[in-house]
Amino acid sequence: MGAIATTEAPASGTSPAAKVVTRFAPSPTGFLHIGGARTALFNWLYARHHGGEFLLRIEDTDRARSTQPAIEAILDSMSWLGLNWDGQTVYQFARASRHAEVANQLLAAGHAYKCYATAEELTALRESQKAAKQPMRYDGRWRDRPESDAPEGAPYVVRIKAPKDGATTIQDQVQGAVTVQNAELDDFVLLRSDGTPTYMLAVVVDDHDMGVTHVIRGDDHLNNAFRQLTVIRGMGWPEPIYAHIPLIHGTDGAKLSKRHGAIGVDSYRDELGILPEALDNYLLRLGWGHGDDEVISREQAVEWFDLAGVGRSPSRFDLKKLENLNGHYLRQAEDNRLADLLAERLEFAVSPEQLDLLRRAMPALKPRAANLNELATSAAFLFRTRPLVLDPAASDLLTAESRALLASAHSKLDALAGWDTESLEEAVRQTAEDAGIKLGQVAQPLRAALTGKKTSPGIFEVLDLLGRDESLGRIADQITA
Ligand code: GLU
Repeated sequence: MGAIATTEAPASGTSPAAKVVTRFAPSPTGFLHIGGARTALFNWLYARHHGGEFLLRIEDTDRARSTQPAIEAILDSMSWLGLNWDGQTVYQFARASRHAEVANQLLAAGHAYKCYATAEELTALRESQKAAKQPMRYDGRWRDRPESDAPEGAPYVVRIKAPKDGATTIQDQVQGAVTVQNAELDDFVLLRSDGTPTYMLAVVVDDHDMGVTHVIRGDDHLNNAFRQLTVIRGMGWPEPIYAHIPLIHGTDGAKLSKRHGAIGVDSYRDELGILPEALDNYLLRLGWGHGDDEVISREQAVEWFDLAGVGRSPSRFDLKKLENLNGHYLRQAEDNRLADLLAERLEFAVSPEQLDLLRRAMPALKPRAANLNELATSAAFLFRTRPLVLDPAASDLLTAESRALLASAHSKLDALAGWDTESLEEAVRQTAEDAGIKLGQVAQPLRAALTGKKTSPGIFEVLDLLGRDESLGRIADQITA
């Protein structure tokens, strides 16, 4: 782990202009969910806004629950969201000996102590506290005992010596001033009896060694901040600035669950067909505001992002709003890019000609779609093979009368010298005029014959995209069906 700085940072408050360093510290026990993605985004934006650094630390100390696929899914989702991090990825587990070193320094300085309480003793303690309806926490029984009391060769844990009197206040950039009575802080474990560090210790040591100046994370970690401060103060390290952001709830206000969209970022991409810029924009607006602005570009986000704009109440996740934004970004997206994305979603290997057709179809298709799935569905007619099997709704449109219209349209289209939109429009209009009906009444059966569906882009665009031979062939197939 030579990659990260271990030099002492300047003492707290001495250098307000110091470079901003933020970090995202996911535990790789599953996919990157949207709460985590938003935390990463806020850290990324804060660092970029201040011209600072955004670091990534994988908190893989829980060996039973951390997995390599989860690590890969997190890195992949972050790259997809465009949340690039600076420097090497830090893996927490690999730094265990450094964590232990700090615990031993705290021990040597008298800010921590060895506790020889046995598991049975601690269970008995918890049970008596429970029976007496007291808060269940370690009672400090080894806090002031001399080393000479230590049972010979017995295992021990190292505990922090938390302050007992007074109160600790955190000036949280989102929550405001939050105060906890020190009597509520417990002497939590820093090193287990096997010498491995606890999560609470590891976080503090890593944040310090990585030079993190701002800890921006979910407010489920606010309580931890008070405990972590006891370690920071024991070491005399600079205190980071904290910003604890409220969690994301479902539209109904309940805690976010799978039912509400608490699926992985990769599912938003793969299953729901969301574009990364849409998810970023949505997550940004979820809990942070800049006036009434809804559509916010990445550049604007970097320019405007601050912690003062983060709301204090939980935000509500709304898939409809995300899809609205996604529709907006789909319309803005480059045709070539969308064609490539669609090609990946189609069930067959797309040939270069088909890819070109997809590109040309995008201007007609993208105004109507809220996600890539809808876009893919609307593009399907381009690649269908003759004779088309019509949807029932489209099939209903083909009566004896409308088949006669198809025959009339076919002969007019067939007679065209050119296959440009203007000539196509003229031929279809003439068909309607000859039959004494409205253009739409011709367009409907034509659409059914050409796409097999009742809805599609404008009929002239469809004719143009399919080209002369395919269009005439598809119409002919339905004339005598
Ligand atoms: N690893 C923790 C989590 O995934 C985050 C810890 C932190 O940000 O301090 O919830």
